[in-house]
Amino acid sequence: MNLIFLGPPGAGKGTQAKRIETLHGIPQISTGDMLRAEAQAGTALGQQVRAIMDLGGLVSDEILIAMLGERVDRPDCARGFILDGFPRTTVQAEALDAMLASRRSRIDAVLLLLVDEAALTERIAGRYTCARCGTGYHDHYKQPRVPGVCDVCGSHEFTRRADDRRETVVTRLDAYRQDTAPILPFYRAKGLVHDIDGMADIDTVSRAIDHALAQAKAAGTVTES
Ligand code: AMP
Repeated sequence: MNLIFLGPPGAGKGTQAKRIETLHGIPQISTGDMLRAEAQAGTALGQQVRAIMDLGGLVSDEILIAMLGERVDRPDCARGFILDGFPRTTVQAEALDAMLASRRSRIDAVLLLLVDEAALTERIAGRYTCARCGTGYHDHYKQPRVPGVCDVCGSHEFTRRADDRRETVVTRLDAYRQDTAPILPFYRAKGLVHDIDGMADIDTVSRAIDHALAQAKAAGTVTES
């Protein structure tokens, strides 16, 4: 089963994709995480992308498409994958279709998280992740059960993303409206889009996603291998 999570930054794509990863045993592929790892590694490519990411801009389609092609060919994607943060432009959506078609594969469902944009800056500005396992937390909505200790791996170290500053969030939301939202008609025309209310609490959103996937399976658009 090949899934895409779509929605503006802060909509909860990463949180929900991680849960589906655990539940269905297919990997979450976050292009943002891949690019941050590249930047962290300090490679030539990493230095190039860091400058763009820190300003909230979009990294070039060529870089992303090459990175993703290499990623979906790895054995852990044999039963499917969950894309989080890709595609972000119509060019990427079309290139993704072509890349999957050449592998006799396709996208099975697109989960669109609908959120009130006014709430997003607040959501994004409060979020942080465990530095060791990447589990996401939030100052107000999702704190670790024991303060300062990751629920999943017990680490005491947490990080905040450089591009989660309020000023950068405005640029990222503009990029979503301008470049990513126009992808929707492409997937709606294929009947793949499931609208999910992303403003509810995390568990309610999770249930809505499970319901959408069950419906897609019943309709035969999603097949689990
Ligand atoms: P994210 O973690 O998905 O919010 O991505 C963080 C940043 O990585 C974005 O603001 C972009 O600069 C870059 N990025 C991630 N995915 C893509 C993509 N599909 N196309 C272009 N840039 C991307």
